[in-house]
Amino acid sequence: MAKDKMRFGTKVIHAGIEPDSATGAVMTPIYQTSTYAQKSLGNHKGFEYSRTSNPTRKALEDNIAALENGKYGLCFASGLAAIDAVLKTLNSGDEVISTNDLYGGSYRLFTKIFENFGIKFHFVPMHDMTAVEEAINANTKLIWVETPTNPMMNIIDIKAASTISKKHDLILVVDNTFSTPYLQRPLDLGADIVMHSITKYMGGHSDVIMGALICKDDKIAKKLYFIQNSSGAVCGPQDSFLVLRGIKTLHLRMQRHCENGAEIAHYLRNHSKVNKVYWPGFEDHPNHHIAKEQMSGFSGIISFTMNGDSLDDANMVMSSFNVFTLAESLGGVESLCCHPASMTHAAIPKEEREKAGVVPSLIRLSVGVEDIEDLKEDLEQALALI
Ligand SMILES: *Cc1c(COP(=O)(O)O)cnc(C)c1O
Repeated sequence: MAKDKMRFGTKVIHAGIEPDSATGAVMTPIYQTSTYAQKSLGNHKGFEYSRTSNPTRKALEDNIAALENGKYGLCFASGLAAIDAVLKTLNSGDEVISTNDLYGGSYRLFTKIFENFGIKFHFVPMHDMTAVEEAINANTKLIWVETPTNPMMNIIDIKAASTISKKHDLILVVDNTFSTPYLQRPLDLGADIVMHSITKYMGGHSDVIMGALICKDDKIAKKLYFIQNSSGAVCGPQDSFLVLRGIKTLHLRMQRHCENGAEIAHYLRNHSKVNKVYWPGFEDHPNHHIAKEQMSGFSGIISFTMNGDSLDDANMVMSSFNVFTLAESLGGVESLCCHPASMTHAAIPKEEREKAGVVPSLIRLSVGVEDIEDLKEDLEQALALI
């Protein structure tokens, strides 16, 4: 079967993966080597030095490219290293329009590092594209979208962003970490580059830090490969193997994350002590119609607030869980909870944070793939304490 004809659940297991040419090993070996023997000058088997290319990493990169319906995949030492590589395609004086509801680490990289190199960032709301259009000028080069956003689960219309991006000859980048290609494929919707924190759902087992970029365009790919090799923030073969292993069950995990997420979202919404629940699967979510169009499911990330909006209540609930673990990160098989106001979003000024909805009692859940009854019982006993 031609690999580009495979359906998603077949691709996660087979795309980019060939039995090892030396031994026939079915699982991609961990090529733990920095360098490769050459028969004579320039006469090698396609690998020269592992910063440039490594067979284990290459299998993963080809696999991820196929999942996003891209042509090129590049893996990095972290999600932020992947973002860093995208920004290095720009020059001093260039401008970027980014969503104002952005992963904190991306915001820090943009404002504390790249602004020092003369790149200007405009952070604008993207629930519709008015503010994006208004921010475009002759120096604008790139639009940065993240959807759904963290932790408020806002949805940005990728097709609408792509229309504007193409009209002004810009590069559209989509951080697809929260959705994974199982639920949303931005390249099909007109994006130029897809970015992942592989650390989250793609790796799926909370045991690796890694990032990735995927694109279709030859010229963009050439620039990104040049930066990947020149800056050198690559991931190692052992981590590549772990992610190859994790990705083989991406479709199964995401199905369960979505099922459990939907159950928990509805459970919380009907709970007497819960105030607001943020989840794009609700029909009254402000951009539910867009979520429904561009995503095939709503994943397992849910944020909620409690009546009275007390920090003590939030702390009581989170420290009383038996199954949910209080920890940063998301997207692993195990359920996690975090407190955005004091953890991921602490660096954002209080007033700005609260305007965006990140209030003291806001809790973000990453619903795992455990038995749903155990998760509901855990929430029930913790909420009963307040
Ligand atoms: C975690 C995360 C990142 C950063 O990725 P790392 O692997 O932690 O460097 C970027 N974007 C989003 C949406 C994330 O959740």
